[in-house]
Amino acid sequence: MYMNKTIKELHEDLISGKVTSDELVKESISKSHEVQDKCNAFVTILDDQKGGKVTDNLLSGIPYGVKDNYSTKGILSTGSSNTLKDYVPFFDATAITKLYEAGAIPVNKTAMDEFGMGGTGTTCHTGTVLNPWDLSRMCAGSSAGSAAAVASGVYPYALGSDTGDSIRKPAAFCGIVGYKPTYGMISRYGLFPFASSLDHCGVLTRSVEDAAIVVDTMKGIDKKDMTSWDSSNIKLYDNLTSDVLGKKLFYIKEIVDKNNYKNLPKETIEHLDNFMKTIELVKSLGMEVEEVSINQDLLNAISSVYVVISCAEATSNMSNLTGFIFGPRGEGKNYIEQMKDHRTKGFSSLIKRRFVIGSYVLQIVNQERYFKNAQRARRMIVDTMKELFKKYDGLILPVGTGPAKKLENDEMVTDDELTVLDEHLQIGNFGGFPSITIPNGFVDNLPVGINITGNCYDDQNILNIAYALESKMNYKNQIAKEVK
Ligand code: GLN
Repeated sequence: MYMNKTIKELHEDLISGKVTSDELVKESISKSHEVQDKCNAFVTILDDQKGGKVTDNLLSGIPYGVKDNYSTKGILSTGSSNTLKDYVPFFDATAITKLYEAGAIPVNKTAMDEFGMGGTGTTCHTGTVLNPWDLSRMCAGSSAGSAAAVASGVYPYALGSDTGDSIRKPAAFCGIVGYKPTYGMISRYGLFPFASSLDHCGVLTRSVEDAAIVVDTMKGIDKKDMTSWDSSNIKLYDNLTSDVLGKKLFYIKEIVDKNNYKNLPKETIEHLDNFMKTIELVKSLGMEVEEVSINQDLLNAISSVYVVISCAEATSNMSNLTGFIFGPRGEGKNYIEQMKDHRTKGFSSLIKRRFVIGSYVLQIVNQERYFKNAQRARRMIVDTMKELFKKYDGLILPVGTGPAKKLENDEMVTDDELTVLDEHLQIGNFGGFPSITIPNGFVDNLPVGINITGNCYDDQNILNIAYALESKMNYKNQIAKEVK
């Protein structure tokens, strides 16, 4: 059994000849089938994949997983949507090209909420992804399959994308690490666009160190993505250190203070208590942590701002899904009917709802009131954070309202007053801020997460803080154990 190991351990085993890349790929594929049977985590498993050359690159010869919204040349890439159920791209996303150049071996394409829209892992065209810790619960989404696979020990890492929290929340629910670097640090070329101003590439791993290694490989300026930037001076893995003495963090009172809520479920109380306990641990590492109060109206605006902007951008981005250029051709007497048929049959109801919202807020008569106001509120939220990042190295907050939710019944719908607690990670997308989730123990025997977000380009700082904290806790390299 190798696939439970870290990237560095695997690299050493490959170099010393203890195991071959072929053997690693075989193990990873057989583990993929096991996890497929249990969790329904994949759209495609690359059964014929072979091992590769082992070089001094840490990722060479090691298997990994790819979220199904990354274009992979010659490999089915569906975005977990019926509209692209047969789509095989003729080019690789830049992130994939970079991983090939490093000698990394993709072994499967992971299931996701359709086109990244959703936070449950229940809207994939191949069915719901189940949480490996408890099969009656969700993984969260949208990078559900990637989270389930990494947590199950299919490979040390899988790619994810994050528009609202889609890497960082499933990571929390599956007891692993999820890292979304600063906006544009990894080229988005070849990533199916959802909401371009919020979309980030990133990775799910079982340790901060592995996240640093993978992002070092995926990042870089790319002339095919004009929002990418030159990060060649950033070497996350080389500069990882747990020396965080004197770093200053803050948390937002309104989000973590139990007295700010009327009806807290038991697991949320435990989750918040658990968070406060970890704050003491953070302090014991020589960091300062302060409580900061932020205008409640501004916080309450987060989720509406996200809905308006993400739906508007998605509606525009996905207008090319007509069934003419990609996907199965719709039926009908003329192109309008054919397009309508393709979109009616292809999209899940969740996406259709979002297109309705997006079209509405973009209508000339509504633009000022909804879309432009959302942009203004986004600016206010980002400015508030940037001001705080002048004084603090990072923002630390609990992820979500507790552990993974049950799949049946209405638990998926969060109580209104818990929305901010559930959705605050969207702040990281509004500002393009680097943001990392690491495991923070258990509530009801299920994993919960803690998140650190910092200022743009300050990835090293937040990674080091996460690295230091991780080293003081016992959840590094955690593999899911089915508890129920
Ligand atoms: N849950 C959010 C949504 O439904 C996040 C999605 C994402 O980050 N891709 O849109």
